[in-house]
Amino acid sequence: MTQHFAYQALPSRIVFDTLSPALLAAELDRLGVARALILTTPPQEARGQEIARMLGNRGAGVFAGAVMHTPVAVTEQAVETLRRLGADGVVAFGGGSTTGLAKAIALRTDVPQLIVPTTYAGSEVTPILGETEGGVKTTRTSPAILPETVIYDVDLTLSLPPRLSATSGLNAMAHAAEALYARDGNPVTALMAEEAIAALARALPRIVAAPEDRDARSDALYGAWLSGTCLGTVGMALHHKLCHTLGGSFGLPHAETHAIVLPHAMAYNAAAAPEAMARIARALGAADPAAGLFALGRQLGIDQSLQAIGMPADGLDRAADLAVERPYWNPRPIERDAIRRLLARAWAGDAPE
Ligand code: NAD
Repeated sequence: MTQHFAYQALPSRIVFDTLSPALLAAELDRLGVARALILTTPPQEARGQEIARMLGNRGAGVFAGAVMHTPVAVTEQAVETLRRLGADGVVAFGGGSTTGLAKAIALRTDVPQLIVPTTYAGSEVTPILGETEGGVKTTRTSPAILPETVIYDVDLTLSLPPRLSATSGLNAMAHAAEALYARDGNPVTALMAEEAIAALARALPRIVAAPEDRDARSDALYGAWLSGTCLGTVGMALHHKLCHTLGGSFGLPHAETHAIVLPHAMAYNAAAAPEAMARIARALGAADPAAGLFALGRQLGIDQSLQAIGMPADGLDRAADLAVERPYWNPRPIERDAIRRLLARAWAGDAPE
């Protein structure tokens, strides 16, 4: 077969290592950062303070106000704190919410970002930022958003609760799955995607059974990095659009929504993307990707219905309308009635079809 594709690698520096004062100093030196503001979420503030102690006099302070969906008001407060404390870089310690805040600050100030991820969201290796203002979520992509350096330290993920580990891992898997049928897909991204799905599929059941299993955690973090790289490199389709709508317009939690919708989105696209499905099935070790993903979710004990995570039944029609409102590429055409049926099954927790 003659290959036709374009592939653009993104300039991130990736370090898998144990966080230490020496490692942080070396990485901040590379970035030319003299004083870093540490960012984190309110529940992770104590750990953020530990990182501040590791930084010594290179730590400008801790801003523990990161929340989901990157509200502009929080970003403005953080930028004000950065300027007041004379910081010239950020160290983000947390999941996608904290990374989102770092990206939003970098977009406004151009300071370098060092990200220490503690979930499997994958945002740290993408040039994508979703921000909310006045209840509206806007997504943009820019090289200025891409974090410069990422330190993956498996020990910092051990405290991620099993349920959140499962949904966050499936959120990562969704990036890889959709990368396999992306319109702008390429062989390198496909290799990463298949490897990511396989790593996450073998790691997540072990993590749920034993959350402190470092080998399984390390595999999941590796899968999360690869998945995030897929998300940052090629375009996403139906699954991500549906989750964006459900999160943005109905306030559903990010990772949980991805975990529930994924098997249904795969079933919707199955017949239109046979090669991608064969690779997903191989990576999962399952005969059918949609059924395999649904079975994995059941094995992991996650919520499998949108109803259980707060989706109102009377919102399904509006969600279907929003999902077809703006046209976007998907391997199978976006058909309103079929999307409405997909949402009904996901709402009820039925198996995908
Ligand atoms: P999150 O960052 O909001 O974290 C969820 C919760 O888990 C928080 O309360 C946090 O304090 C806690 N937590 C995180 N790590 C922990 C750990 N190791 N131990 C204990 N508690 C921990 O959730 P998320 O799913 O990582 O990120 C979701 C956000 O990221 C959404 O806003 C989403 O839109 C965004 N996102 C963006 C991209 C992108 O490329 N732009 C990609 C993926 C996700």
